[in-house]
Amino acid sequence: MSDPDWTALGRSWWSHVQVLADDSMEGRGTGTAGFQRAAEYVARQFQAAGLEPAGGSGYLQSVEFQVSQLDEAASSLALVGPAGVEPLRLREDAQIAVTSETVPDLDAEVVFVGYCLEVPEYGYSDLAGLDLKGKLAVMFIGGPSDIPGPIKAHYQSFSERYRNLRKAGAVGSVVMSDPKVPDLPWPRVATGLLMPRMELAEYGPEEPRPMPLAISFNPARLDLLLAGSGHTAAEILGRLGGPGHLPRFPLARRIRAHAAVRRSTAHCSNVVGVLPGHDPALRQEYVVGSAHLDHLGVGEPINGDRIYSGAMDNASGVATLIEIARRMHESGERPKRSLVFLAVTGEEKGLLGSAYFAKHPSVTGRVVADLNMDMFMPLHPMKYLEVQGLDESTLGADARALGAQAGLGVHADPVPDRVLFIRSDQYNFVKAGVPSLMLSVGYQPGSPEEENVNHFLHNRYHSPADDLDQPVDLVAAAQFTDLLGRILTRVANAPTRPAWNADSFFRKFAK
Ligand SMILES: [Zn+2]
Repeated sequence: MSDPDWTALGRSWWSHVQVLADDSMEGRGTGTAGFQRAAEYVARQFQAAGLEPAGGSGYLQSVEFQVSQLDEAASSLALVGPAGVEPLRLREDAQIAVTSETVPDLDAEVVFVGYCLEVPEYGYSDLAGLDLKGKLAVMFIGGPSDIPGPIKAHYQSFSERYRNLRKAGAVGSVVMSDPKVPDLPWPRVATGLLMPRMELAEYGPEEPRPMPLAISFNPARLDLLLAGSGHTAAEILGRLGGPGHLPRFPLARRIRAHAAVRRSTAHCSNVVGVLPGHDPALRQEYVVGSAHLDHLGVGEPINGDRIYSGAMDNASGVATLIEIARRMHESGERPKRSLVFLAVTGEEKGLLGSAYFAKHPSVTGRVVADLNMDMFMPLHPMKYLEVQGLDESTLGADARALGAQAGLGVHADPVPDRVLFIRSDQYNFVKAGVPSLMLSVGYQPGSPEEENVNHFLHNRYHSPADDLDQPVDLVAAAQFTDLLGRILTRVANAPTRPAWNADSFFRKFAK
């Protein structure tokens, strides 16, 4: 098989990014008219690619949300101790992360709980022996170096934390990220929390609800919290990410919170198209290719721009789904199992559209795999394929084989502390027992490519600068798109359905 015309494929891919990340789409915020226009575009492209509508309402699957938005001007946070009340500056020092459960007023003692991790498989507990009844728990995202990345990742999900904190009687959380881990910088965390926050309208009986109070704290202001506790920020930051527990101790001051919340409801849609499989025995099994269509919408202006276009996050992934469907249509290729092309809503609101689809799949049969894309980063020539979940299931072997065939190095997450395996939509499939991967253009630690990625995270990620005016390698995007199509096809044609590896932690979710 000869190589495709990479330039032509790259241009075709880019044409969808141009539409989806255009200002007229207004950042594709969940529940907005801009998102609806983007969803209609994707549905038209799915139709043109010959996919069958599979959302329940044509290509669209309706999802209902409850919405909470912080009224920052009417809200406040303060540290309260024997020496008096010290107000915290919202957005500078800390920000309130409002939910359907946020209470208007809370005044509580505070305990530093390290990573707030409970990992029974490793006999590891950050909460054992601590009195958290009626208190707030302060924690860092991350975990000790001696617990494997995927396990740390799973136990750091909000639902696991809520479950453990509620069991311990805590009334809320104060969360910080490790400043050493390249990720969203604090100012964008704080302004991001001003956008409407969403939850699915329904909670299952087993699903833990959010806490009465959740605060995100600027790690650069850690000393404010620790004052009088006998511990310093330098000590804690120095030990972050090392082996074993962080110190855990009560803080000297209480936190007093007043949260003003505007509440409403919203509707939005997943977009679902199916290429039916040709094997009568296997076509009831579905291999999902997924990417989130939503982004952050219109928000706080940065450098005069209010539209969070989300070109890489994640118009790029949806464009790849469209191109894979189009190319399969043109080639007439039809694998044995059915393929689902799934563009989900509500990812930026907490992986909500994929949670809804995983709970209420709009296809009849069995979902056997998910291959997800979220910001696959075609910023430089593709020499490596990065695979989240590489060593967890047989899908890893498929990615390895086709990556090698394409002349690529294949590697797992180079920055495990960013916990990407639980941070995008594949995680809802994982929790439903479905072997899953997230794939992107890879890079080696210490390389100029790594610098590109970190530069993007620092300067464009979740900001209006993730728009059409940025350097993108269209050939890399084309090669990635071609490779993802091949992996989907291989999985859909395999004699046996994908399975978790015997030693995978995530096997415990298998049905
Ligand atoms: Zn994002």
